[in-house]
Amino acid sequence: MRMSSWPAGISVSDFWVSLLSLTRPNMMNTPSVSSEETYESRFFADVMLGTLARWLRILGYDTSYKNSIDDDELVRSCIREGRIALTRDRRLAKRREFEQCLLIQGNTLSEQLTEVLDFTKDSISRELILSRCLECNAPIERIQKESVKGDVPLYVYRTQDSFSQCLNCGRIYWAGTHRERILKRLKRLVTGLDLSES
Ligand SMILES: [Zn+2]
Repeated sequence: MRMSSWPAGISVSDFWVSLLSLTRPNMMNTPSVSSEETYESRFFADVMLGTLARWLRILGYDTSYKNSIDDDELVRSCIREGRIALTRDRRLAKRREFEQCLLIQGNTLSEQLTEVLDFTKDSISRELILSRCLECNAPIERIQKESVKGDVPLYVYRTQDSFSQCLNCGRIYWAGTHRERILKRLKRLVTGLDLSES
């Protein structure tokens, strides 16, 4: 079993546990495009902003991130895919090719998330929180409990009822009581974040 790495401050037991399942071949070829609601803003976070990228994915933002990419490739990807670049590099932020680039100034995750959300002016959708694969950014979809039998540890199968799978990499996610903890952490991270049911 392979556990993913987790956002700073959240232990595996505090969060959804994912594992590399016995990936089904047909899942690997499913386009990573979902017809479901998404935010208008899409991002490409530069190499220094891995934790921010992960939390944007938790919020449900389509956020590309590579831990190794050169500036030219990042610029090209942003233009090609209509993504807002997120960077702490002033020199990169000055590149004129960008349609939109946000120079992240804050040092803490809380400051950085707030900067992004102030920039987009999006209201955060509870529906979109935890709707993306934290590893590869593709949408995840609910799947039948029966379909994961044998792919997840027996104790998980016995104790959990709700399972989702990444449409791209096949990782299986399940939620325990962790969703509410994530929402609480988000409220602490972003002052004034409205996560009330719409
Ligand atoms: Zn994935």
